[in-house]
Amino acid sequence: MNVTAINKFLFLHSQYNIMVENTDSVSEKKSLNFLEEIIENDLASGKHKSILTRFPPEPNGYLHIGHAKSICLNFGLAKKYGGKTNLRFDDTNPVKEDTEYVDSIMEDVRWLGFDWASVHYASDYFDQLYEWAVQLIKRGLAYVDDQSLEEIRKNRGTVQTPGTPSPWRDRSVEENLDLFERMKNGEFPDGSKVLRAKIDMAHSNMQMRDPIMYRILHAHHHRTGNKWNIYPMYDFAHGESDSIENITHSICTLEFDIHRPLYDWFIQQLGIFPSHQYEFARLNINYTVMSKRKLLQLVKENYVSGWDDPRMPTICGFRRRGYTPESIRNFCEKIGVAKRDNVIDYSVLEFCLREHLNKVAPRMMAVLHPLKVVITNYPEGQTEMLTAINNPEDENAGTREIPFCRELYIEQDDFMENPPKKYFRLAPGQEVRLRYAYFITCQEVIKDANGNITEIRCTYDPASRGGNSPDGRKVKGTIHWVSANHAVDAEVRLFDRLFAVEAPEECEEGKTFLDNLNPNSLQVLQNCKMEPALANVKVLDKMQFERVGYFCVDKDSTPEHLVFNRACTLKDSWAKING
Ligand code: ATP
Ligand code: MG
Repeated sequence: MNVTAINKFLFLHSQYNIMVENTDSVSEKKSLNFLEEIIENDLASGKHKSILTRFPPEPNGYLHIGHAKSICLNFGLAKKYGGKTNLRFDDTNPVKEDTEYVDSIMEDVRWLGFDWASVHYASDYFDQLYEWAVQLIKRGLAYVDDQSLEEIRKNRGTVQTPGTPSPWRDRSVEENLDLFERMKNGEFPDGSKVLRAKIDMAHSNMQMRDPIMYRILHAHHHRTGNKWNIYPMYDFAHGESDSIENITHSICTLEFDIHRPLYDWFIQQLGIFPSHQYEFARLNINYTVMSKRKLLQLVKENYVSGWDDPRMPTICGFRRRGYTPESIRNFCEKIGVAKRDNVIDYSVLEFCLREHLNKVAPRMMAVLHPLKVVITNYPEGQTEMLTAINNPEDENAGTREIPFCRELYIEQDDFMENPPKKYFRLAPGQEVRLRYAYFITCQEVIKDANGNITEIRCTYDPASRGGNSPDGRKVKGTIHWVSANHAVDAEVRLFDRLFAVEAPEECEEGKTFLDNLNPNSLQVLQNCKMEPALANVKVLDKMQFERVGYFCVDKDSTPEHLVFNRACTLKDSWAKING
């Protein structure tokens, strides 16, 4: 890691309250986060013998990096304290849910490296929930309300003024039982009635002003089919599902803290296992959006190629882009667990990816914008093999042989006809080192009729084989290259931030987040030249193209047409600090 990278690391980490003890090894010493403290206390006091957490996605979209944070937290805490984690699909809204999403969620959780103790569905508990609702009605704690949703909202009052009780609030238990059963049987149209908890219309917490427990929905459910015409609301399903499963620590995002009294109220009234809810700040990242509704819109309206478009902040998007589970887990660990909302810089994510790929990705040579070089004093028709190091960070990665011959490709911007003073790459009369190969000197520039450079003629120094200076001669620049005779053609997709601004959701009047899309977020290059070892890659293989960036083989890739995605550049091109 160079000094800039270390400074940046320190800067970022001081921002996110992570203590860095030793700047050489960049080791971290972290104090317990507040959830770890709670769990350690609960275990020490004997409140719980072991812990059980859950990850409760709604199967109405693909998981995004925010969910990854929640997954790492829930599964990570359980793992750390010898507990277990359930995967529970919070499928109480049949209209938006689908088994496609269920499958993708399971795949993503597994890919991140976690396994659940068991899988559950809130819909498995619909019978139990219905029974509990009847129990509450019988005890005068719930009633059927005929007001429209609009009226209910209006009559809830405001934080300053108490709500107005519904004219149906004092229905008899018998009437409520009868109506609720008929709601279930499908006798009433959608929206005509709801079941509400009877708590306190003047409660200082608006959530406690007779919250809705059930609504009528004549909708087909992906698991229960047409069995139900009523569906429980989140507030009546979530805590109860936690309790049924004996979840000890129900961890959710901050916006649910005002729901906690209601979570506790239902559990208390029903006298069931006392699961507890704890809130942490949701993960926000700049230059992207993280609401499933908006991500769905990007997919449906073809702003991206799908949920797994490598520019998407979805887990499958990151996977396709070239992220590793380790890099995402490391990211979630580094940003810590906050109690106040904050926005994490996108570059922290890229930092974590680079950090991991630097250790594991083999180095390869590829030329994205080819410029032909002919070595005039190299024998025509000759090929020799040169030895290249696969990964200087990994002793066990070994070496490979790469072919060298008379005609090569180098990057267009590694040559300048009229270079500025400190340009150390190839230029007329200037000598440069070809990585692992030879020193070459530019002798002649060939142009077409329009004055475009088409070819560079060079001579090489046979004594510099392997890239070593024969006589102590200094060559400042080293460039990468690919043998023209052996090169494999490939398509390369370069990605940039999906949005051009830090906070895409903040827009002027009349505009939407879509107006903030980055028009240059995808650049496709054809006929890039790859060293021949790259002919044998598999989808999702990751590698560093020396001097260019980290890349990953895209799923569109075939042996006849290779496609590489740029996972990230070698350095942070968006850096505001030390940039
Ligand atoms: P979205 O707003 O994207 O639709 P959601 O909260 O409705 O997200 P769920 O499927 O209900 O999506 O989320 C599953 C779990 O993931 C919940 O416990 C939720 O709190 C958590 N979660 C969702 N988004 C984030 C985030 N940005 N950061 C941390 N946790 C999150
Ligand atoms: Mg949700």
